Amino acid sequence: MNLNTIVEVKRPKSFDEIEWRDGHAFLGGGTWLFSEPQVATDTLVDLPGLGWPALTVTPAGLEIAATCKIVELHDFKGPPQWRAVPLFDQCIDCFLMSFKIWNAATVGGNVCMSLPAGAMISLTAALEGVCTLWPRNGKPRQVPVVDFVTGMHTNVLQKGEVLRSILLPASALSKRFAMRQVSLTHHGRSAALIVATVGDKGEDFLLTISAATPRPVQLRFKKAPSATELRQAIDERLPPDAWFQDVHGSAPYKRHITFYLAEQIRAELT
Ligand SMILES: Cc1cc2nc3c(=O)[nH]c(=O)nc-3n(C[C@H](O)[C@H](O)[C@H](O)COP(=O)(O)OP(=O)(O)OC[C@H]3O[C@@H](n4cnc5c(N)ncnc54)[C@H](O)[C@@H]3O)c2cc1C
Repeated sequence: MNLNTIVEVKRPKSFDEIEWRDGHAFLGGGTWLFSEPQVATDTLVDLPGLGWPALTVTPAGLEIAATCKIVELHDFKGPPQWRAVPLFDQCIDCFLMSFKIWNAATVGGNVCMSLPAGAMISLTAALEGVCTLWPRNGKPRQVPVVDFVTGMHTNVLQKGEVLRSILLPASALSKRFAMRQVSLTHHGRSAALIVATVGDKGEDFLLTISAATPRPVQLRFKKAPSATELRQAIDERLPPDAWFQDVHGSAPYKRHITFYLAEQIRAELT
C-alpha cells in the first residue's frame, strides 16, 4: 500500500550517517511496513542499501546480516558438519508465505517484528543465535535471540537501535535436530513451532517452544530427558496462563499440541 505519511526515504551509506529522531523507521524488506498505515512514521531509513554481506561463514559459525533476505537464507548450503542447516528451510516453509515475503522480507525484519509466529525467531532461537545490536550512541551489544523478543510484538531494541546481525554458533549448527509445526489451517500461521537440538551422545538437549507462547521459551537439559521429565519441565516453566491465544489457536489448544509435539521430537532424537 502507499504510505501517505512518508515524506522521505533516506539511503545512508553507513550507520554513522543516520541522525535518528521520532518519526523515523528502519526499512528492511518493507513487507510489514507497507502492509498497513504507519501514521507515526514520516521517514524510512533504508537498511539494505548499507550493503552488509548477507551470510558470512566464520570459524565461530554463521553470521546472518539483518538484511539477509529469506530467499538468500533458503539458498544457503553449509559445510557438511553443520547438520542443522536443513532446519533453515523447514522454518522458512512455516511462514504464511507470499511471493513478496519470500523475495523481499529480511531475517532482521522478521526478528524485529517479534511476532509469536516469526519463523526466523524460532529458527535463530533454536540454533542459539546471538544478536548484535548497534545502539544510536554507544558500543555494539550482544543479546541472545531468545532474550531479544520480550512479548507479542515487543523486544529489547531501544529507540534508533538497529539489529545488525545474528550469529549462529558452529556448535549449535553441528547438533542433530528435530522440528514440528502445526497450523489450524493449511498454510496458516503457526499455532506451535517446536524445535529440539541435541549433541551426538544425547548431551545438551535444548527444546525451543515458539508460536504457542508470546515469546520463545527454551528448556535445556544436560542429557536427553525422559518423557516424564520433559512433560514436567514444560509444565513447571509454562503455567496455563503463559500460552498465547489468538485467531490461530486457543491457549489450551496450543498448550496441548506443544506437549504432544515435544514428546514426538524427544522420541525422535533419543
Ligand atoms: C501476507 C503476509 C504474511 C505474513 N506472514 C507472517 C508470518 O507468518 N510470520 C511473521 O512473523 N510475520 C508475517 N508477516 C509480517 C512480516 O511481513 C514479516 O514478519 C517479515 O519477515 C518482516 O520482514 P521485513 O524485512 O519485510 O520487515 P519490514 O517490514 O521492513 O520491518 C518490520 C519492522 O522491523 C523494523 N526493522 C526491520 N529491520 C530492522 C533492523 N535491522 N533493525 C531494527 N529494526 C528493524 C522495521 O522498522 C519495522 O518496524 C506477514 C506479512 C504479510 C503481508
